[in-house]
Amino acid sequence: NSDLILHVNFELVNFERKRRYTVKDILGQGTFGQVAKCWDLETNCYVAVKIIKNQPAYYRQAVVEVSILHMLNQKFNPDDKHHIVRTLDYFVFQRHLCISFEMLGSNLYELIKMNHFKGFSLSIVQMFSKQILHALIVMKDAGIIHCDMKPENILISTSVKPTEIKVIDFGSACMEGRTVYSYIQSRYYRSPEVVLGYPYTASIDMWSFGCIVAELFLGLPLFPGASEYDLLKRMVQILGGQPPDNLLRDSKNTGKFFKHVRSIYHLEHDATSEELISAYQVLTEDEYEARESKRPSIGKNYFNHVKLEDIIANYPYRKNLPEEEISKESLTRLALVDFLRGLVEFDPGKRWS
Ligand code: ATP
Ligand code: MG
Ligand code: MG
Repeated sequence: NSDLILHVNFELVNFERKRRYTVKDILGQGTFGQVAKCWDLETNCYVAVKIIKNQPAYYRQAVVEVSILHMLNQKFNPDDKHHIVRTLDYFVFQRHLCISFEMLGSNLYELIKMNHFKGFSLSIVQMFSKQILHALIVMKDAGIIHCDMKPENILISTSVKPTEIKVIDFGSACMEGRTVYSYIQSRYYRSPEVVLGYPYTASIDMWSFGCIVAELFLGLPLFPGASEYDLLKRMVQILGGQPPDNLLRDSKNTGKFFKHVRSIYHLEHDATSEELISAYQVLTEDEYEARESKRPSIGKNYFNHVKLEDIIANYPYRKNLPEEEISKESLTRLALVDFLRGLVEFDPGKRWS
């Protein structure tokens, strides 16, 4: 990402400015620092100021965040129609890099929680999904991978538009083709290629997007992996298959989760086209524990069904739904399953872009 850093115009950073912001509240905390709700004395508006820890690594990453957001919004989103948070200003205060953002409201996780984890109606899921897709299209056009798409990083706008949402937190984002880090994405939303250590592209955001869409509907995360092993096991169970052999063959971490049961050569020459037998087999829990010498805590499967199709089709209907709505809804649920199948697809090359 060194190119990006060079593009930041440091002359814009005013080291000597007068006091402009008054801190009113703390909105969030993280490893990077804190986000404060501030009153902007110049514009008479509330703004959210991300105050970055005074350490070189965080500073550098925050500069990447500023430059990516600057590029996305200036070049690809000048009219603010694509559901990406807007940066207003950035400056250094007492050796802390600070980024001010437009003030937004609750995040989608908080919204799901306020709804008692019951999930939203299909029309609401559709409305949110469309907006997130708008943001993903802009990122794709700009060659940016967000790398941390999850409900916590999608905020409700407090603007005039009724239920507008915006994608925030480009603190882990990178440029396609400059994928430096391998430990990325929040676990529940982590794509199989990142878990397996396979070269990744912007399609990791599409995987996370699929997980978000499912969670908006179900109210609970689709793959609540307690560990990476548990995560992979849940994917295999729910999707009813495992990652394709070519992906497993070329991934750095395959040996952590799979045992090699026959050679690919063997496979290609012995198996008939109808029964393609994989060269890999998922380790049993005992085998994994023996290798990792740690116990993955497996949460209970709260869906009562194993396969994606059954989970979506049988998810309890809201009681107050009239009869004719139910049959109409079951058709839309089939479409939702089809949509999710395109997104939570093991093969990044086949996954919907
Ligand atoms: P970490 O990666 O260490 O978890 P972070 O990079 O996730 O931290 P952000 O997601 O950018 O940091 O911000 C942290 C929290 O601050 C958000 O989850 C949200 O609650 C709040 N926040 C961030 N930006 C805004 C905003 N523009 N308006 C209102 N709240 C915000
Ligand atoms: Mg965040
Ligand atoms: Mg972050």
